[in-house]
Amino acid sequence: MAKQDKKQLVIIGAGPGGYAAAFRAAELGLKVSLIDPEENPGGVCLYRGCIPSKAFLHITRTKQEIAAAEKWGLNFKEPRVDLKKMNEWKNKVVAKLTGGLGHLTGKRNIEYIRGRASFSSEKELVIDNGEGEVFSLEFENAILATGSKVMDLPGIEIDHQHIIDSTDALDLKEVPESMLIIGGGYIGLELGTVYASLGCKVSIAEMTPGFLPGTDRDLVGIFEKENKDLFEEVYFETKAEDVAVENDLVKVVLKGRDQEQQKKFHKVLVAVGRKPDPDPLHLDKAGIETDEKGFIKVNDRRQTSLTSVYAIGDLAGQPFLAHKATHEGRVAAEVIAGEAGAVYDPRSIPGIVFTHPELAWCGLTESQAKEQDMPVKVVKYPWTASGKAAMTGSENGLTKLIFDEKTGVLLGGAVAGKNAGSLIPEISLAIELGATAQEISLSIHPHPGLSETIMEAAELFFGAATHVVTETKESTT
Ligand code: FAD
Repeated sequence: MAKQDKKQLVIIGAGPGGYAAAFRAAELGLKVSLIDPEENPGGVCLYRGCIPSKAFLHITRTKQEIAAAEKWGLNFKEPRVDLKKMNEWKNKVVAKLTGGLGHLTGKRNIEYIRGRASFSSEKELVIDNGEGEVFSLEFENAILATGSKVMDLPGIEIDHQHIIDSTDALDLKEVPESMLIIGGGYIGLELGTVYASLGCKVSIAEMTPGFLPGTDRDLVGIFEKENKDLFEEVYFETKAEDVAVENDLVKVVLKGRDQEQQKKFHKVLVAVGRKPDPDPLHLDKAGIETDEKGFIKVNDRRQTSLTSVYAIGDLAGQPFLAHKATHEGRVAAEVIAGEAGAVYDPRSIPGIVFTHPELAWCGLTESQAKEQDMPVKVVKYPWTASGKAAMTGSENGLTKLIFDEKTGVLLGGAVAGKNAGSLIPEISLAIELGATAQEISLSIHPHPGLSETIMEAAELFFGAATHVVTETKESTT
């Protein structure tokens, strides 16, 4: 087997964790080799996750806005969906962004190796380029960033035709007449929104009593209120079993708490989550430990049980979010480059569900505060009090802030409503900076804007806000 020269830093996997680590390490003067089977960096996020799904959600949101515009005095013809063009546009966005990352990789003199890597020892990797070429290389330090894979359901085989996963669902060839989505988490709701908006009769089966398990119920309630007619059927506390393809349809047994029913759908999308995928790395050959869920065990510097090897992103633990992976990647690169203060210690990681409306949260949630019996003051600012919400048809929205009851320090926050995802970073930054209710309420926010709801929610900590009499009373405007 051919052997390459020893590398100073090898990064395995070029998703948002791996490429961010590579870019930071190169900036800090390290010689970096980045390994991934794809033509360009990007990972699941750019090729099969965040970017293609949000490109489609942008289109369906536009369609919704067109429908809503009628009551604002703007009449459009019923939009005609051209799937081929939609796909072309989505693919163009993906190609532009991944191509850009390839360009940035070259500009930073990072060696990009196409292939799949696995350990042969504590110091050596074997790379298979997928075209019959296999070679080995030694390394001083390595960062593992190979992400996660789709979680399957026992007894349900994804055939990628009738029974599909999120990757298949993002390669829209047709809009099926009907679809069952197994899983009411964020991927199920986002893809359900896309397909339902394009005319598919979408049903959802969720094992727990509601959508988005773990998310504060008031936020989920706002999604439900605005999407009463979006889905054909919703089955909570229901398991999908005995899934079988018959005459081009998928037969499913839906086992609820009290009843069992058989239904047929044109497609079934399995969206029950993702899990780490450490096996192909042959970690045993390097003595790297994983936990009972398959995550690689890391310390707060993202170092594994083998100190010259680091792990980041989906492979190293929840939450499965691109920006968490990126942050960890930068931390690991800085630790390797010898930056003494580099540590992974976030107070707040924002999460966004890009449905219509968007739901977003960061830091401590209200449910967590309740579970842990924490002394907090939760304030909720209804968007009925916001001028911007009124003029943009988003009065159902809500901004919620969670403060330490005694000190008024902001611990968590959430927003549900149009552009919630663009508002949540302000709350997240305030948490990271240890801002208090007073500081937030004294920061002048632009009018008319939805960010005013954050400032006024902070005023509510003291009992009243400019446009709300008390936190329980309705808007005065
Ligand atoms: P990944 O992005 O998974 O990248 C891992 C890379 O490693 C891949 O390119 C893979 O080919 C490569 N690889 C695997 N094995 C090897 C090997 N042996 N050798 C070399 N290379 C290897 N997150 C958000 O923050 N926002 C969103 O809106 C969002 N939407 C999503 C929508 C969907 C449908 C999905 C599936 C995910 C979404 N996510 C979203 C999650 C996000 O994609 C992941 O959290 C993120 O991509 C994790 O980054 P990562 O660097 O850990 O790994």
